[in-house]
Amino acid sequence: MAGNFYTVQCPDCDNEQTVFDKAATEVACAVCGATLARPTGGKADIEGEVTETVQAR
Ligand SMILES: [Zn+2]
Repeated sequence: MAGNFYTVQCPDCDNEQTVFDKAATEVACAVCGATLARPTGGKADIEGEVTETVQAR
């Protein structure tokens, strides 16, 4: 059950952060605290803009 990592750009402060696409907990921006990903039980709901997808294997 490999997942992907996304580099997500925060919509509020442009900070870029790596987010697991099956994040089980809400992921907040390390700089401003905005929500970047919400758990949905499967693939997380990404709130910011995905600038890069990193395939895990
Ligand atoms: Zn931010």
